[in-house]
Amino acid sequence: MIGWILLGILLLFLAVLVIRALRFTPKPQRQTEDSQIVFDQDAAVAALQKLVQCKTISYNDHTQEDDAEFQKLTRLLPELYPDVFRVCSFLQLPDRGLLLRWKGKSSEKPSVMMSHYDVVPVQEEMWEKPPFAGIIEDGFLWGRGTLDTKVTLNAALFSANQLIAEGFVPENDVYFAFSGGEEVNGKGAVHIVNYFKKQGIAPELVLDEGGAVVENVFPGVSVPGGMIGIAEKGMMNVLYTVRSGGGHASAPPPKTPITTLASVCRKVIDHPFKMDLNFPVRQMYDTLGRHSTFLYRLIFANLWCFKPVLDLICRMNGKEMNALVRTTTAFTQAEGSSARNVIPAQAHLVSNMRLSPATTVEGAEAFLKKVVNDPQVELTVLESCPPSPISETDCDSYYKVADAVAATWKGCIVTPYIMVQCSDSRHYRDISRHVYRFSAMDLTAEERKTIHGNNERIRLEVIAKSVEFYLRILGKC
Ligand SMILES: [Zn+2]
Repeated sequence: MIGWILLGILLLFLAVLVIRALRFTPKPQRQTEDSQIVFDQDAAVAALQKLVQCKTISYNDHTQEDDAEFQKLTRLLPELYPDVFRVCSFLQLPDRGLLLRWKGKSSEKPSVMMSHYDVVPVQEEMWEKPPFAGIIEDGFLWGRGTLDTKVTLNAALFSANQLIAEGFVPENDVYFAFSGGEEVNGKGAVHIVNYFKKQGIAPELVLDEGGAVVENVFPGVSVPGGMIGIAEKGMMNVLYTVRSGGGHASAPPPKTPITTLASVCRKVIDHPFKMDLNFPVRQMYDTLGRHSTFLYRLIFANLWCFKPVLDLICRMNGKEMNALVRTTTAFTQAEGSSARNVIPAQAHLVSNMRLSPATTVEGAEAFLKKVVNDPQVELTVLESCPPSPISETDCDSYYKVADAVAATWKGCIVTPYIMVQCSDSRHYRDISRHVYRFSAMDLTAEERKTIHGNNERIRLEVIAKSVEFYLRILGKC
């Protein structure tokens, strides 16, 4: 009898799981406009080519930078986008901040289109083509910064230039805000935000680099996802120091600073932060999960029971899948004795941590101290930035971005997500609740690897798609 009851309960339980999975189907898509967008694609490519030919490399050691190249790019802008500079006011702020204001019919709900025009250094000998020549070959424009992110700077200004030439005036003011030091945490964007604060400007929409249209972003989903970052994780660097009396390596004590730090490393890795199914991730699961295969729909429709399984899968997979759902710790630097046969008087480890929305800087520090639990280990937070606030998704500003993505890349599934890297847009936390991170391009997995890597290049049709996206969104600002 009891056996039958148990069997009945089990069958009921399975039925609930299956029914929930069967009902976990794609949500109706928002209507996208079908209008044709016409512009001179060759001119858009030529303008980007000119930007790429400026060697605007940022270095942590600013003395290595070639200021003339940054000035060359700034001087080039009025030549490439003459109507923008005819109509918009232009402000140069400290630390290579550039700000243009395109006056709309109203100043009430301004938008800010962000980008940065500095790039990371190159290992030139590893490139198949020179990184700053702007070579166009076989449908690609080669060069550092083509993807990250001169493409969006070009697309935003090229589109505005075309719209102005056509006599279009936006409903609301549009600002173009570019920084020349994003890659080294420069302060250009900070100066721009301070300017907004002083002027009492609270943007209704901020768009910066971030997600893109990418394939294979979700298990079991073959259609590309249009990933819009509605938040970004925080960052924190932690220094672990252990001191000792030093000594000769020929007669070592049972414990040295290195052995202690090795166990610190082990403890921290063995005690990952708790899974945080934050709002952006839940939204992403609820959008992409519905397009997945039945097996995954079974899991994502029933997270109330499969959360531990998902947690395990994420921890075993690591990488981005795991980074989306928890605070991560990566050990990045280690330093011991300067001689091979000397026990160090002090040794250091550094971990770079990325904080999920549920983790504060103080909370992460307290958690680490508890895990390490060793009075010999000195733990210091070097620099930190809390996770960004989460931007709204059920509002006009989000839909402006989402609709432009859907109309430009037909068939992709547009979804919110959380960006695991930092961007300049984090500085807008105090002045806007509508900060979105989307790099207007579609990228293959191989192309994504060239960002900050070797042989960065862009397909010419992606340059055009980017312009198409900005023509759509600027038309709605
Ligand atoms: Zn970038």
